[in-house]
Amino acid sequence: MRPQDILLPTADGLCCKPGGFHIDPIRPVERALITHGHSDHARAGHGAVLATQETLDMMRLRYGENFAGSTQVISYGEELRLGDVKVKFRPAGHVLGSAQIAVTAKDTCIVASGDYKDAPDPTCAPFELVPCDVFITEATFGLPVFRHGDAALEVKKLLASVALFPERAHLVGAYSLGKAQRVIALLRKAGYDAPIYLHGAMEKITAYYQSRGIDLGELRPAMGMKKAALAGTITLAPPSATSDIWARRFPDPVTAFASGWMRVRARARQGGVELPLVISDHADWDGLTATIAATGAGEIWVTHGQEDALVHWCKTQGLRARPLDLVGYGDEEESEPQPRSEAEA
Ligand SMILES: [Zn+2]
Repeated sequence: MRPQDILLPTADGLCCKPGGFHIDPIRPVERALITHGHSDHARAGHGAVLATQETLDMMRLRYGENFAGSTQVISYGEELRLGDVKVKFRPAGHVLGSAQIAVTAKDTCIVASGDYKDAPDPTCAPFELVPCDVFITEATFGLPVFRHGDAALEVKKLLASVALFPERAHLVGAYSLGKAQRVIALLRKAGYDAPIYLHGAMEKITAYYQSRGIDLGELRPAMGMKKAALAGTITLAPPSATSDIWARRFPDPVTAFASGWMRVRARARQGGVELPLVISDHADWDGLTATIAATGAGEIWVTHGQEDALVHWCKTQGLRARPLDLVGYGDEEESEPQPRSEAEA
């Protein structure tokens, strides 16, 4: 069977005709398989949704109980037959509950990896390598300039700054789903045991992580705190809030931002970020290329991000490769409703 007879890029997203479903569709479809809870992959309004328990819970948190006609849980490693294909979900190491979806028809296996990272993350199951014939990879950081390094060292930088400026507050911009909880877990791993403060927009999802057994230590809402009491503390907030009127409640805040984009200095400067922290939930260039090679796939489909360089690299390795030109995926926070400062003030 030709791979394109199994999975085909369409305007709605990746479509599996023989299985009767779409993967991470951007428009409402009859049956959707969802890789993870970020809003550019997990949208409301589908007839039926198949995903991990965590992804379904996150969709429920964000969109309410009736986000889909019906839902079905699939565990990592469990095999399901859908129409003429078999599907399996495997950990993607991106955020809690994130999965790669392996679709097998006859002898051909295609893995749609969604967003993934091969770096360690104390808040989710580690990325699992799935040998396959066709590997569909993201390319968010698909340029050789992107090398994320060790996230633990970035957290050390943050703690050094907190020690250096005990009279100032530290405001860390981080995406609400995944990144914020990972930064908190990394702070705890580094031995930081003071209470950590949260912007209201990340309280629910962070409490959900805790309810799934992720130990994040003592967390407090930043709202209602006296300005002086926030000196020497660390607060996590959505990136947009750190440059907002909301930030005025903090004493002389040091603005940090935890993102793979912080490798680009101009980007940090532009955003008024004083303390850039290179911490990403996506594979960097070395991670992408190492993963592609390790899957043993002879054919690589590249989607959302810097497709060109990665497609070119694949060809130099003797692999067949093409960009999928799927639209609608990218920076999750951009597609999230912005936190309302008025409600927070
Ligand atoms: Zn994502």
